[in-house]
Amino acid sequence: MINVLFSAKDTNWDEYSPALRKAFTKAGLDCDLSRDHSPETTDYIIYAPSSALQDFTPYKRCKAVLSLWAGVEKIVSNKTLTQPLCRMVDPGLTQGMVEWVTGHTLRYHLGIDANLAAQDGSWVQNVPPLASERPVTVLGLGQLGQACAATLASLGFNVTGWSRRPKSIPVITCEHGPDGLTQALNSAEILITLLPNTPATESTMNAETLAQLPKGARIINPGRGTLIDDTALLNALNTGHIAHATLDVFRQEPLPADNPYWTHPNVTVTPHIAADTRASTAAQVIAENIHRAESNQPLHHLVDRSAGY
Ligand code: NAP
Repeated sequence: MINVLFSAKDTNWDEYSPALRKAFTKAGLDCDLSRDHSPETTDYIIYAPSSALQDFTPYKRCKAVLSLWAGVEKIVSNKTLTQPLCRMVDPGLTQGMVEWVTGHTLRYHLGIDANLAAQDGSWVQNVPPLASERPVTVLGLGQLGQACAATLASLGFNVTGWSRRPKSIPVITCEHGPDGLTQALNSAEILITLLPNTPATESTMNAETLAQLPKGARIINPGRGTLIDDTALLNALNTGHIAHATLDVFRQEPLPADNPYWTHPNVTVTPHIAADTRASTAAQVIAENIHRAESNQPLHHLVDRSAGY
């Protein structure tokens, strides 16, 4: 029997426990899934940082901690967590992000806001350009950035991507490292930020890098609030250098009611809803990883603690 501790918010239990049990059975795993396993008997921990468990020291038998979240910035800094840590890569979450990013990109590309604002009898024809005439840049070419970039490219957008290490991806112009960032920003009429929150990505978009975007660029940030220097973005929005921003994530969440983003005419705030882990698909990913560990195969989606993601 494999003892799997579920350590997340109580409200997650009702949704995840049936999906996990089903996935364990399908994977041929004999698991006892519980919220109450003692540290001495726990083999795996399914984990969200919002749970009460913060000290992993007593979990000496635990073979892996399996995060329910894609972003692991709240877990990597926990010094008591010495067990292998896997982040969530969930096809359902990825699909959600692709749909959210594509929708907001098309909103900008087609000028949908201008049409909605012009229902006044005026007949002004501004035909949008084709996607191939619209340069879009995606910062971050990981699971989510690559999926979004590929979908936008399949719609015909002229897509550039930027990552830490060099990459070669068909139909996407790939840039990397500090030097590649300027190149990636120079042409970006629509910028999508899908980097993780690490010390190295703090304020990737600041006064200097915002100035490298063409005048009138739009920004879509479903990555993390820390990727953007808020004061610099508000300044760039106020001067019109940045025409509009759609922000899903913030340095403080929920975004306080008096935050200027709420009332800025050129900002759309969404409440961290771009993509959520979906229990049915995530359960299969977790079961697959436990199966791998039990059969001495390398774990999928291991976090690189030194890089922080
Ligand atoms: P991932 O697979 O770990 O990919 C991260 C990407 O960022 C990689 O391409 C990586 O480069 C690049 N990167 C990291 N540090 C960098 C640096 N210093 N300079 C340049 N590039 C750097 O992550 P993911 O699964 O795509 O997720 C990305 C982020 O989305 C998560 O960390 C999370 O913050 C956010 N997210 C948001 C929501 C939401 O609902 N809003 C939902 C899920 C996730 P390499 O390829 O070279 O490693």
